[in-house]
This record gives sequence, structure tokens and C-alpha cells, in this order.
Amino acid sequence: MKNLTKKETIHIIFLAAAFICAALLLGGCAAKAVTEEASVMNTIMRVSLYGTEDQALDVIDVVKEADDKFSKTAAASEIFALNHSMGTQHAVSEETYNLIENIVEIADKTHGAYNPALGTVIDLWGIGTEHQGVPGETSLSSALNKTDYKQIVLGENNTVSLGNTLIDLGGAVKGYALDLTRSELNALGVDSAVVSIGGSIYARGTKPDGAKYKVGIRDPYRESQDYFATIELEDACVSTSGTYERGFYAGDDYYHHIFDPKTGYPADNGLVSVTVIDPNGLNTDIYSTALFVMGLNEGFEFAEQNGIAAVFVTYDKKVYLTKDVGYAFTITDDEYEIQDL
Ligand code: ADP
Ligand code: MG
Repeated sequence: MKNLTKKETIHIIFLAAAFICAALLLGGCAAKAVTEEASVMNTIMRVSLYGTEDQALDVIDVVKEADDKFSKTAAASEIFALNHSMGTQHAVSEETYNLIENIVEIADKTHGAYNPALGTVIDLWGIGTEHQGVPGETSLSSALNKTDYKQIVLGENNTVSLGNTLIDLGGAVKGYALDLTRSELNALGVDSAVVSIGGSIYARGTKPDGAKYKVGIRDPYRESQDYFATIELEDACVSTSGTYERGFYAGDDYYHHIFDPKTGYPADNGLVSVTVIDPNGLNTDIYSTALFVMGLNEGFEFAEQNGIAAVFVTYDKKVYLTKDVGYAFTITDDEYEIQDL
């Protein structure tokens, strides 16, 4: 297993590790946890499960396959082909068709705060690429004119037309991939596991002693392994969208990778991160991005009305929990403070 460098981002803190070591030392526990890591979906994936190395590698392979299908940049991917289909009715696999249909449906619920058709704007900013930079007004407004997700037409026989848009599923596929790992772990008969893909984490079952998995929520102001709070999960996913994940400075101004589809600029509303907890991984990924775009007031109200468990963190380290955060949530850094809205 290779060591993580500081730069590589993983958001999970396996607080389970201490327990596992103790259990192994005492020899009181038959089950053995294995951990495997890989670079996938432009981030680090980590699988820790009670089972075999091969099972952990199988789980990683499932996500690698998904990455091959849904990557925007790999020339062999389905999304790449779709984005190059010039708005024609283009055949995709049933899985991709269903995923796009699902994503568009959820995007619609967020009134487009999550917008899968933002590809042209995202490409223009080029965050994380060699050409990243603040675009000119004219090019930004012409890019914005190509982001109406209602132009995505789901046709017969698994065909999709994008109209004049380009899709970018970067804010959804990691969560979807967690759902794929759930199916794989079902098939493998593994009951206890934690899977993380960048800022999206799936905790499956409980630890062998029956305790829930405890995962850290990243401290937006510190290194990727530092957390400001922990949450206990059982058969649930959690995704965090934060300004720190990807971005660049131009002069004193910081531009991050979560865009407000109304303006084409990074959402600049006082939030530094939003975390969503849900049994469904796709939901956590999409809603964390969407609530971030909505901002604290609108996002909080939306989450409460839709029964979404969400944690909002503002730049001044105030933390807001919706009523559905019924899972044990603990602040571990006293610079952060829970507030009511
Ligand atoms: P990460 O991918 O770092 O985990 P998110 O899940 O918040 O973070 O997704 C951000 C990514 O989603 C961006 O890098 C971009 O590809 C895409 N994106 C940015 N803004 C939006 C938006 N408003 N709606 C849909 N996708 C977006
Ligand atoms: Mg997301």
C-alpha cells in the first residue's frame, strides 16, 4: 500500500484503526480489516473492509470501470463521446442513460442549483488544468448560454441528446460510485466496510464489535487529514463539497470549483463547506454541491423542507445542522461552534 502524500486528498479519518489494532493484538477478533488505495476519479479512493485483499481490490475495480465510462476527459469514455456528439441523438449504455436520467431528475428538484449541463462553463474556467484562469465577460456569457439542462433530451433506445450543452458529472459520479461499491460489497458478502472516494464516504454495517463507524468531516482550513467534527454512520453515505477542494488564486482573489449556474462564477456566499448524509451516495454528492450553491439561508430551508441531513459551515467557523442530522455528530475542534439559524 503506498503512502499518501500531504497533497493527496483524503477526507476520511479511520478512527476505527485503533480498535482494529487493539483487536488484532489481543487476538480477540477473528475478522481482519484490510485496506487498499488507488488513484481514481481525479482523487484518492480508499477501501477498508473486513475481508480479503482481493475483495478490496474488486471494489476498487468497480470504481475504476465507472471512471472509464463517466470521465469527461478520457477519450474512450461514454461521456466524452456524448459530449462530442454535437447535439445529435446519441446512443449510450443503459447504465449511463439511467444515471443521466436520475441526475437530471435530482437537478430539477434543486431548481438547477446542481446543473449537470454546466460543462461549457466548467471547461472555460479550466480549474485544475493548465489553462485555468478567470474568463472574460464575453466568453463567460456565451458559455452560460450553453448550460440549459432542459436541453438534455432522453430519447428512445437509450439515446441522449445534449442540445448545445456539454455535461459534466464531476459533482455526482463519486457519490454514484459509492452506490456501485454497495452493490459490489453485497455481491461479495462483505458486511463491514468503509469506502472513501475524495470527499464522499460510504460506511457499511458496523465494526465487528457492533460499534458504528465514525468518520471525520474535513476541517476546511487545515490539511486534508484534519477534521473539525465526527459523525457516526451505519449504512450511510456522506459527501462534502468545499471551496478548498480545487481552486486557484488570481491576485488576492480565490476562485474555487463550485459554480453558481446563474452567474457562471464560483458560488461566493460565505460558505466554506456543505456536508450531506444519506443512505444513497448519489444524493449526497449532488445535494452537497446544490446546497453549497444555494447558500446558507436558501440551502438550509431547502434541506429542511426536503428532509435532507446537511451540515453547513461558514467562513467564520459557524456550523449549522438541519434537523435530519439525526446521526451522532460531534464537534472535535472548539474553534467551531454549532449555531441555530
Ligand atoms: P468534488 O468533485 O471536489 O467532490 P463536488 O461534489 O462539490 O466536489 O463537485 C464539484 C464539481 O462538480 C466541480 O469540479 C465541477 O466539475 C462540477 N460542478 C461545479 N459546480 C456545479 C454545479 N453548480 N452543478 C453541477 N456540477 C457542478
Ligand atoms: Mg458533489
